[in-house]
Amino acid sequence: MAIVGLGGLGSHVAQQLTYLGTQKFVLVDGDFAELSNLNRLVGACEDDLGRAKVEIARDAILKVSRAAIVREVRESVVSAGGFSEILGSQFVFGCVDDDAIRFVLNELCQAYETPYMDLATDIDAKEHSFGGRIVFTDGRACLVCLDALEPNTIRKALETREQAEEEDNIYGVRVGALPQAGPAVVSLNGVIASLGVTEFLSEMTGLRRANIYLEYRGSLGIVRCQTEAAVQSCYYCRTVRGKRAEANVERYLAIWPTITE
Ligand SMILES: [Zn+2]
Repeated sequence: MAIVGLGGLGSHVAQQLTYLGTQKFVLVDGDFAELSNLNRLVGACEDDLGRAKVEIARDAILKVSRAAIVREVRESVVSAGGFSEILGSQFVFGCVDDDAIRFVLNELCQAYETPYMDLATDIDAKEHSFGGRIVFTDGRACLVCLDALEPNTIRKALETREQAEEEDNIYGVRVGALPQAGPAVVSLNGVIASLGVTEFLSEMTGLRRANIYLEYRGSLGIVRCQTEAAVQSCYYCRTVRGKRAEANVERYLAIWPTITE
């Protein structure tokens, strides 16, 4: 089981999977805990400031389940080490806040036919709306054909100025508007993480197929689901899927350092 991103969403997912009995984890995240994370990083306390998020998550997992086997990748998933660990995993949870990384993970998991559950939350302070969604990529649909990524994602990621502006926002709230603590999204993250883990559970136990798309509109208090893709399939579902090494997803590794600099 791989969890990519051990922040607000990923820390919930790691905790729930541990309680459900998952024994083998691969945790991928290059970030460190900061003061502004503490109001949503499940399992972290003030003593953890400055520690790697994967290390905090590993400790939280081992506290509940001493026998768990946890592998850590302390760098971006778009790295040789990250790719190698993802390819060795049977299921991947994506808990990142970057659409460019989602795009690459989607393609990697399509190429190697690895089930991929992508989690995301959103807040629009201007519109007073908040919510989130999960997307499950298993051959029926993917992030691209479900239109779950912002248009021109890769182009934006390539433009340093726009990327910096994006990073200046957390969950749609300007950083300057939040003196020390980050936004109060722990319960929203909990809802989305729980929806994702419950779909995973339904799929793995054979209770029912996981929904390919579940959307929580917090402003309305509703969850709506989609079981089949509206569009039959996209390039990634139709052409990339199952191509494994031939899909050459590794081409992103060569350009990634220049994107993230
Ligand atoms: Zn698709």
